[in-house]
Amino acid sequence: MTKPKGKTPSLLSMSTGTPTVHTCGKATPCDRCGETVLKGQSCFQIPKMKSGFTSGPIFCSICTAEIIVQTKTELSALEEESQQFLKG
Ligand SMILES: [Zn+2]
Repeated sequence: MTKPKGKTPSLLSMSTGTPTVHTCGKATPCDRCGETVLKGQSCFQIPKMKSGFTSGPIFCSICTAEIIVQTKTELSALEEESQQFLKG
């Protein structure tokens, strides 16, 4: 195996993108729970692929925390599987 060049990509950077902190310019409903995030309040913008184009729905901090926990759970499962392949 040749040594890969450059920075190691992450699943986040390779697929939709990394969530970024976003300050709402206007009251916007959370994409998951529908709770309105008021103007000037912090939320998270998570890029999402939708029929070919990328949109950036926002999520309130509670939903973002839950999404991150879920991501970790799925990643741990993947990590375990990949480790098994490495062991052969
Ligand atoms: Zn929410």
